[in-house]
Amino acid sequence: MCIFCKIITKEIPASILYEDKDILAILDISQVTLGHTLIMPKEHFNDFRTAPDEVLSKCMSVVKLISNKIETAFLPQGFNLISNCGEAAGQSVNHVHFHLIPRYDGNDGVTLTFKASQEPNLNAIIKEINEKNNTR
Ligand code: 5GP
Ligand code: ZN
Repeated sequence: MCIFCKIITKEIPASILYEDKDILAILDISQVTLGHTLIMPKEHFNDFRTAPDEVLSKCMSVVKLISNKIETAFLPQGFNLISNCGEAAGQSVNHVHFHLIPRYDGNDGVTLTFKASQEPNLNAIIKEINEKNNTR
């Protein structure tokens, strides 16, 4: 059983911020920023690519609910919502979850850098994606 399944079945303790029959939201033990929360379905799916749409939709409803609670409590200036999928993307627990990371200022411990490619050929990229998927 994965570590999040153990938290869901209460074999391992966690700081639970929200729970219903399908979804659990807990404080991330690392608290990258104040209020950093993990939202996950109770049913085990490895990642967002294998979880059914209805499950993801329920997760998103709870993401919004928790973001409102954190906004009220801590007055962040913004949020990042991240779901790592696969080792290359930094996923360390293979139970789909969403990191809701409140953002406070430029020195809050989070750095997300999107470094643009040099002169990307967007038309060629679209063409290749469509061709390989037999779509237009
Ligand atoms: P990932 O790297 O898979 O996107 O995120 C896994 C997250 O789970 C990490 O941010 C890590 O701090 C958190 N985490 C791992 N083990 C536990 C735990 O036992 N309790 C809680 N609350 N968070 C955990
Ligand atoms: Zn699990």
